[in-house]
Amino acid sequence: MPYSYDSQNIFARILRGEIPNKTVLETAHTLAFHDIRPQAPVHVLVIPKGAYVTFDHFAAEASAEEITDFHRAAAEVCRMLDIAPGSGYRTISNAGSHGCQEVPHYHLHILAGKIMGPMLGH
Ligand code: AMP
Repeated sequence: MPYSYDSQNIFARILRGEIPNKTVLETAHTLAFHDIRPQAPVHVLVIPKGAYVTFDHFAAEASAEEITDFHRAAAEVCRMLDIAPGSGYRTISNAGSHGCQEVPHYHLHILAGKIMGPMLGH
């Protein structure tokens, strides 16, 4: 089944400049900004500028340049926030209904600033 992208999702609107964001880093293909409802002292979202719904969509259809830019930008955010190398962090990417994805634009959560505890809450 082809991926279907909703261009009205909130991150698409952030990318179009319709909604403000607290930018941490912007590169040619990637934007990183603070999550509006932080779940940890550091909670940054990293998103590709392209229209991709999930990790698997991005990995399958983005160009090598976009994929490299995204991961280098995420790593740069970790350096900028002093969590890598250092105390460490957790990355999460939710996809689809079982992943409890709220915003249907691919994003990586970077969480840090405290011990994260077990991988999944019960
Ligand atoms: P997910 O459940 O993985 O789709 O996560 C979506 C994340 O986007 C949540 O952590 C929200 O707090 C966050 N979020 C929603 N709207 C905004 C916004 N306008 N600016 C920043 N983060 C947002």
